[in-house]
Amino acid sequence: MSNLDARPAVTECVTSAPATPEATLFEAREVPLGGIRGITVSRVLPQRGLPTIGAWCFLDQFGPSTERMNVLPHPHTGLQTVTWPIAGEIRHRDSIGSDVVLKPGQLNLMTSGPGISHSEFSVSTGQMHGLQLWVALPSGVEIEHAFAQYVTLPSFTVPGLSATVFMGQLGDVVSPATVYTPLVGADLTISGDATLPLRPDFEYGLLVLDGSLAAADIELSRGPLLYLGTGRCSLDISGDARAVLLGGEPFPDELVMWWNFVGRSHEDIEAARADWEAQAARFGSIPFHGTDRIPAPPLPPIRLTPRKRR
Ligand code: MN
Repeated sequence: MSNLDARPAVTECVTSAPATPEATLFEAREVPLGGIRGITVSRVLPQRGLPTIGAWCFLDQFGPSTERMNVLPHPHTGLQTVTWPIAGEIRHRDSIGSDVVLKPGQLNLMTSGPGISHSEFSVSTGQMHGLQLWVALPSGVEIEHAFAQYVTLPSFTVPGLSATVFMGQLGDVVSPATVYTPLVGADLTISGDATLPLRPDFEYGLLVLDGSLAAADIELSRGPLLYLGTGRCSLDISGDARAVLLGGEPFPDELVMWWNFVGRSHEDIEAARADWEAQAARFGSIPFHGTDRIPAPPLPPIRLTPRKRR
């Protein structure tokens, strides 16, 4: 059985963290996305006091809903977009020539590098449900813009739980997707009682997509994010649920995030906004859409500052 491989790591796990690691619920907030007929999403990251989980800096859940996704060209910088559909198909087009349809079970991973732009449109009828995540890119390394679609992703299995590892590593199972910092993103199906091997140097969060579960003495169903902190060698989960696990080494940098941009300072964001509004080469263009694009909102009349950890 493949699950035996993970167990030595659990027994060898050493942590200097407090005996009782953190377990905190963070409420979701409903956010209407911009643009005509834009959809409403349930946002659980970033939060006041919790800007990131590892390098994960943004998590929206859209649906389940029959609302269409009609997101015109818009820019990104300083991040990777991770699109993980649960139901419905999405057509992705970007400024580096990609034009693909994404289906449930597949991953779209777009790396902005200094700049990229893309559009996303529903191309199926019926229910739309999925996750839009961002991963902050580390500073001090040059990372080119890129796009990749992963059609086949590896599975992780222990008694009571199976998972698709779409980003990073869970146990000894590694996603083929390109990552720049140690992290994990996995889609869990829990049926009964399971023990998940974790890394004590990673912080983790859990979000239920369907059903309900219990973990760290907390009952969790759709809505809030359960933040699990660092210092855990394993996590007992029980229930009948589908949930997403995010984790990673706590991100060392304070991030300034505004609209679709991730930077390190007010000036980074100001420059990205100005470049998008000037149609600068940095963000390219998507020929199919002609002049259609989402204009940047005005900058707030304050200096943008990093979101701090508690
Ligand atoms: Mn986007």
